[in-house]
Amino acid sequence: MTAPKAMAWHKRRLQQIREWQSSRRFPDFIDESAIEQVLVENRSPSRQAVLDIVQKARDHATTGELLSPAEVALLAHVEEPDLWEAIFEAADWIKRTVYGNRIVLFAPLYVSSSCVNNCKYCGFRTANTAVARRNLTSSELREEVRTLVSMGHKRLIMVYGESEDSDYRYICETVSAAYSVKEGFGEIRRANINASPLSVEEYGAVKSVGIGTYQVFQETYHRPTYRAVHPEGTLKGEYDWRLFSLHRAQEAGIDDIAIGVLFGLYDWRFELLGLLHHAMALEREFGVGPHTISYPRLEPAKNTPLATESPWLVSDEDFAKIVAIVRLMCPYTGSILTAREPAELRRKTIGGGGVSQMDAGSRIAVGGYSRMHEAHQPDRQQFLLSDTRTLDEFIHDLCRDGYLPSFCTAGYREGRTGAVFMPLAKHATVKNFCIANGILSFEEYLQDYASPQVREIGQQIVIPKYLKWLEENVPALSEKVHLNLCRVREEKQRDLHF
Ligand code: SAM
Ligand code: SF4
Repeated sequence: MTAPKAMAWHKRRLQQIREWQSSRRFPDFIDESAIEQVLVENRSPSRQAVLDIVQKARDHATTGELLSPAEVALLAHVEEPDLWEAIFEAADWIKRTVYGNRIVLFAPLYVSSSCVNNCKYCGFRTANTAVARRNLTSSELREEVRTLVSMGHKRLIMVYGESEDSDYRYICETVSAAYSVKEGFGEIRRANINASPLSVEEYGAVKSVGIGTYQVFQETYHRPTYRAVHPEGTLKGEYDWRLFSLHRAQEAGIDDIAIGVLFGLYDWRFELLGLLHHAMALEREFGVGPHTISYPRLEPAKNTPLATESPWLVSDEDFAKIVAIVRLMCPYTGSILTAREPAELRRKTIGGGGVSQMDAGSRIAVGGYSRMHEAHQPDRQQFLLSDTRTLDEFIHDLCRDGYLPSFCTAGYREGRTGAVFMPLAKHATVKNFCIANGILSFEEYLQDYASPQVREIGQQIVIPKYLKWLEENVPALSEKVHLNLCRVREEKQRDLHF
């Protein structure tokens, strides 16, 4: 694209954003001074108050209620190690009560890295000449997807920079291309999106190609920090356009929406309350809260000093607290712990944080999967990944720790999205589907992709354990799962789900 053409596009887009802002019909839901005040008022929790909130959060596992801002602020100020143990135990219990002991697996697919924005923490920012940028062509994209499918993946989060060349039309084309790939028994069954905010009409187009969840991270809910890291005049500099992006997605009928914060830009306690207010606003407006919450932490990126020098970087200890509080404050939400984090920390945080979804075998350079023989590539990546285990190694470790690895994508294909999904998650009955579909989709992996070692532990220990759980808890469903399991094993049927 020529520079004048790119500038004209940028100008038009900014104008479009500002026009939307001047006619915004949703009320603001981030009141910084109110959040600061709640944090100050609740900074010295008594033991009893904390134990009461922990019990309340457990009770909410089957009602789906959110904790209040004051309750979340109190939890965020707990210091006693034994109280943290009680919080971690509750997070694990709530997750198991709502979703069962399964972990849904996915892979990030970086589709485009050219970006007009200048986010100070991101390796893809336009001013950073140290990182190579490119957008996948359709055939390159298909090659990436073929590699992912031949690893065993069924679910993607497709990630995009923001530019005229990677606008909503490009998103539609690349999602359709991803769904078109068939490789042996493999295919992508759910393509989620992480991309910049769109207009209602653009979201409508993206919905029509069958995306799963639309994910936009606010990065920071704290306006002064937001302004400092997203320079004025850039598209991303427009805070409200981003804050209400998922409201617009809902207006367009995308009812699985995902929120998140980039922890390390500002005070993590403030950001937790931002996430809570966002969930409350979505519930108020649409009766549907966030399908998932993400809590990426700033990771080092090439030629990006803020990523390592921010005064608000979050320690491992505080990170574990954040993940657990997310589970207690919003019991029904999917909670995503990514390979940004080191393997050992991820392992500890799954249980203690009540995590429900994880990526594995991830590559985040654009084109990084089809060149798997190359090492991770700092000069092509947005940031650096810490957990570089292969998908099979990751699954082995999950099995060893007693979890059911799941490639389930049944929910949205069975129409369990948005307002249909919410009551199932809020009343903790969704786990019956999660375990049944988890077993069937894991068995497909064991048949088609697993190493002998993983196949053995999966078929000898993991599948029998979760079949037993179904027999004891949902006998009627268990019979159907047994039947389908035989079809997967003996008749090589695939994609059987409830
Ligand atoms: N360009 C789109 C946007 O900004 O919304 C989406 C893609 S961006 C590649 C996805 C996310 O990566 C961002 O929302 C941000 O939270 C995260 N990210 C950016 N820089 C990061 C860093 N240095 N460490 C960890 N995560 C980072
Ligand atoms: Fe672009 Fe997103 Fe990176 Fe910002 S975070 S520079 S918008 S890719």
